[in-house]
Amino acid sequence: MCVFSNWNDFVCIINNMIDFHVHVFDPFFINNRDSITDSFFESMYSDPKAKMATADDLIANMDEYGIEKAVVCNMTWRNDDYCNRNNYYIINSAKEYPDRIIPLITLPYEFTQLDVQSSAVCFNLGVMGIGEQRLPLHYLASDNSPVDYLASVLKDANRILLLHVSEPVGHQYPGKEKITPEALYGFLTRSVDTTKVLAHFGGGFGFYALMKEVKQVLSNCYFDTAATPYLYEPDIYNVMDKLVTSDRILFGTDFPLMTPKKVLDHIGKGSVSDEDYKKITHQNAKKLLERIG
Ligand SMILES: [Zn+2]
Repeated sequence: MCVFSNWNDFVCIINNMIDFHVHVFDPFFINNRDSITDSFFESMYSDPKAKMATADDLIANMDEYGIEKAVVCNMTWRNDDYCNRNNYYIINSAKEYPDRIIPLITLPYEFTQLDVQSSAVCFNLGVMGIGEQRLPLHYLASDNSPVDYLASVLKDANRILLLHVSEPVGHQYPGKEKITPEALYGFLTRSVDTTKVLAHFGGGFGFYALMKEVKQVLSNCYFDTAATPYLYEPDIYNVMDKLVTSDRILFGTDFPLMTPKKVLDHIGKGSVSDEDYKKITHQNAKKLLERIG
């Protein structure tokens, strides 16, 4: 079934894919992108060529590429009001498209325990967790920080934490930062029972799963493929299958950064087995969502 010579034939065969990592914005941010004062937003979207999409744009894209459902992330903001505004937009978009959009929300960058408690209220509104969250480095050093509180709340609520993770080496790009496997390791050891999705193949975290203790720490972590064609050779899929098993790899695009076709073509070039392809593009996500639903 993984025949990529004819895209139209291909999407006819696979039509229940789940994209586990996309972003949408309230049109307010798209229409006012030049005047939004938030250093994270500015670093990624001040360039007018950086793509932004509304929920309607996302649904049109999903229809075009045969994507059944998408896990919609907010970005992490420094500005509380902007963070809340886009959270509400995502929650409302999920109400508008209940069969297509699975909502995640974010906390402001330097969040407090009170912020965590407020976000937990949204779990009763169908929000599946927190993401894509960037964590402040100084929150990771202590075992008594708001991030440990967040992990315990998510565990108790049976919700997920989708984390932005960067590679410690390699080329620079907007959004690359110091939250690397090394920086995250202590926090992951303290929150093994909380289900986490490490974005962008976890900045290469899986490579250390050959270490017995790291394998145990990563035992409740999934790895998404968002933006992978920009980061790795197609061998990454089979390498990660060996290291953490294909059961924990989730197809994600980082839409609108890239289209589903770009990521799916990349997976196809990785010569994954048909069985693994089905797991990565929808079966793993379906199982995880059923577990937390
Ligand atoms: Zn992302």
